Amino acid sequence: MNLDSADRKFGWMEKRQQMKETLQLFIDSLKDELYSLSQDIWSQPELAGNETHAHDRLVRFFSQRDQNWTVQSHYQLPTAFRASWGPVGGWGGEGEPVLNVGFLCEYDALPDVGHACGHNLIAEVGAAAAVGLKAALENQLELPVPVKITVLGTPAEEAIGGKINLIQAGAFTDVDLVFMAHPAQQDASFLPTVTIAEVSVKYHGKASHASAYPWEGLNALDAAVLAYNNLSLLRQQLKPEWRLHGIIKHGGVKPNIIPAYSELEFYLRTPLLKDLCDLKARAEACFRAAAVATGCQVEIIYPTPTYYNILPNATLANLYESNGKALGIEFPEQPASFSGSTDFGNVSFVVPGIHPFFHIGTGALNHTEEYTEAAGAEKAQLYALRTAKALAMTAVDVVCCPDLLLQVREDFNRARLKLEE
Ligand SMILES: [Zn+2]
Ligand SMILES: [Zn+2]
Repeated sequence: MNLDSADRKFGWMEKRQQMKETLQLFIDSLKDELYSLSQDIWSQPELAGNETHAHDRLVRFFSQRDQNWTVQSHYQLPTAFRASWGPVGGWGGEGEPVLNVGFLCEYDALPDVGHACGHNLIAEVGAAAAVGLKAALENQLELPVPVKITVLGTPAEEAIGGKINLIQAGAFTDVDLVFMAHPAQQDASFLPTVTIAEVSVKYHGKASHASAYPWEGLNALDAAVLAYNNLSLLRQQLKPEWRLHGIIKHGGVKPNIIPAYSELEFYLRTPLLKDLCDLKARAEACFRAAAVATGCQVEIIYPTPTYYNILPNATLANLYESNGKALGIEFPEQPASFSGSTDFGNVSFVVPGIHPFFHIGTGALNHTEEYTEAAGAEKAQLYALRTAKALAMTAVDVVCCPDLLLQVREDFNRARLKLEE
């Protein structure tokens, strides 16, 4: 069912339009406060897992708005939070399942360059969309399903993967939809991201005098070199989009001592999670073969959790695009390719959601000093606020049309099923 037929069926076209206008006006009325929120986070950049100032600032933003937000600071992780509002509406009476609409705020920065990924704007957009949706919903007691809003502060995206910890802690189990948006070089409702597994490999050999008694040693550097070469040969047999790249981190201490210890660090990336398992198995075989050949012991460690690729949701993406276009957002027909990774990928495997990218008025690239400057500039506000509006308007569509919600869930199930093919 498309939007028009959903409207004909439920007679909600006008009401939905009103709700969208309400949220736009509300977000505009809050623009100074939202800019100040973003600036406060931007001017005090904090690294993954250490975002205490951003956490406190966002907790204050929601707890001081009105008493109807229930705010849990330090939720599951020291610098995560949860703010909830509702439920309101519903035709089915008491006991009817609640539709919980989630918005995510990221707020970690990068070493040396501050907010070069613009996560201060992600926090602002998530907060603006959530309070905008609330303004649209609060006088609508006749909604088809009872609706609740949940904002999750999700720290440590640039390292560690805070969202993965939050998934494991059950933070998403009662959330039905998730929305967030990420600053980039263009507007796009969906861009494919890649999975990433970081692997650390340690070889333990046996030291000996390299000239007097070389036959007594087990050369851990040889193991590392063999592993590096094995992987270089493996690369020839990989699909073009697959990546493996790495370094030798430790390779011995002195030429006349046979190295007893060596260490490699590699990143493995594939567009699809199912391929990453294959790549990991093949890389591990290379690491082990080097240990066998040299008589060394090998340890293969994955120090951080794997970031998954983002699963697409065509219904949410189409709704976001039509709402965005109504606000003047231009979506390039052929979005530029992008090979980044995000822990939102893991969220997209457990809850239907979207993670659009948005232009912030600069040609600079993420993770550069120029991008840091642009993410803090007033010019970015226009782009951030209209992105927040488009997200909240998309939520309005789904909240008002149960058939659209069904479609969103079907898209999600289809994308998950495809993984098993
Ligand atoms: Zn980022
Ligand atoms: Zn980044």
